Amino acid sequence: MIPNIDSPKYQGQRKFMVSKLKSLGINNKNVLNALNSVPRHLFMDPGLISHSYKNMAYPIDSGQTISQPYTVAFQTELINCKEGDEVLEIGTGSGYQAAILSYLGFDVFTIERNITLFKKSSLIFKNLSIKIKKNLLGDGYLGIADSAPFDAIIVTAAAKEIPKNLMNQLKVGGRMVIPIGEDEQIMYRFTRIEKSTFKKEEFGQFKFVPMVKGK
Ligand code: SAH
Repeated sequence: MIPNIDSPKYQGQRKFMVSKLKSLGINNKNVLNALNSVPRHLFMDPGLISHSYKNMAYPIDSGQTISQPYTVAFQTELINCKEGDEVLEIGTGSGYQAAILSYLGFDVFTIERNITLFKKSSLIFKNLSIKIKKNLLGDGYLGIADSAPFDAIIVTAAAKEIPKNLMNQLKVGGRMVIPIGEDEQIMYRFTRIEKSTFKKEEFGQFKFVPMVKGK
């Protein structure tokens, strides 16, 4: 049983957080509604719950982080998906980003390499009845060949270079949103215009934990 799933206090804090996201330039109504609805405090480290609705990244387990709400909203806007689209997330982490994608009615596939985080997020998805099509313990660099191609891929850890496997798992017309770089990253969106032609767009600087090869 999950105690204290939501409360007027948290709802109020979420509303305030969403108004902040709007002021920072997030304007997709569905995305704002999802961030206003999914209880981020249920994905936080228990000791940090009082910070749940601040626009900041926080430590979860195993030296990893739950992404900043602005970053979650921004990447979710950039994949530009509609209900029923198949979306692959790399780096399940706390499960918060996956829960947002699921709330939006996307078919969510997500991969995590760390077994502690994989187990934790699996339990949260189950306890909160969050629909996830497939959550896997594995190396996100490989994607999920069996379930490809995807309408979108959202990478929530910093890659050093463009993961070729993932590019090949996009549908024609599909989009991959991915931070690339070492200490700091640039957010890129690659759109597969034709089988072997990709459009590349740049969306500013971000800071993510590194994407690491292998499980
Ligand atoms: N989307 C997450 C953000 C987690 S931080 C959230 O909403 O909380 C990034 C996550 O990527 C970490 O949990 C890390 O373990 C994971 N990760 C790093 N390299 C990976 C890889 N090659 N495959 C899968 N997951 C990876």
